[in-house]
Amino acid sequence: MNFTDLGLAEPLLRAVRDQGYDVPTPIQAQAIPAVLQGGDLLAGAQTGTGKTAGFTLPMLQRLSASKPVRDSRGRIAVRALVLTPTRELAAQVEESVRAYGKYLPLTSMVMFGGVGMQPQIDRLKKGVDILVATPGRLLDHHGQGTLDLSNVQILVLDEADRMLDMGFIHDIKKVLAVLPQKKQSLLFSATFSDEIKALADRLLNQPALIEV
Ligand code: AMP
Repeated sequence: MNFTDLGLAEPLLRAVRDQGYDVPTPIQAQAIPAVLQGGDLLAGAQTGTGKTAGFTLPMLQRLSASKPVRDSRGRIAVRALVLTPTRELAAQVEESVRAYGKYLPLTSMVMFGGVGMQPQIDRLKKGVDILVATPGRLLDHHGQGTLDLSNVQILVLDEADRMLDMGFIHDIKKVLAVLPQKKQSLLFSATFSDEIKALADRLLNQPALIEV
């Protein structure tokens, strides 16, 4: 198995080669074709398994295969939203989005709390295709009307169990409530408590199941 067999387009294969990856990890081998098909995904995966590329590569391919969307103010609208429990993970995921998406005309932004709102507002004004965020700050922006989430087509909940452990369930529910009903949702979690299963039941529609 190599990356070419997974159905990835040339700009993504080039970026993967630049990273020096030879073969896909088990989660990538399973997640990439599943996500490219457009369905929902429930994946059990620890950090260090290569899960970030497992969702980022097919997400980038799907976004690049369709036209950018403009929001009501004429800006490039957020089409993919990745939620993470911590700012460190958000920053890391967005770095991966940049690295894997370097040959594609897509833009990304990372957003988390504990820093000023204004630089984030200024960045949002320029328009962004892919937003990687922690839940609290995302809701702050949405509440202030500085962020339009009505065009989200792909949602990723990364390390969902950690988000719940950190008490983000109410924030996550609030985010889900403002996203379009019709979207592709991917849930990654290292563990599967009843709470995670309930969240998965509520969010995912006949998901592909992957456990590594
Ligand atoms: P993650 O589990 O997504 O945090 O990735 C863990 C580490 O594995 C990161 O440093 C990646 O750069 C690296 N990695 C991801 N996919 C591959 C691959 N197919 N081959 C080698 N290293 C990889």
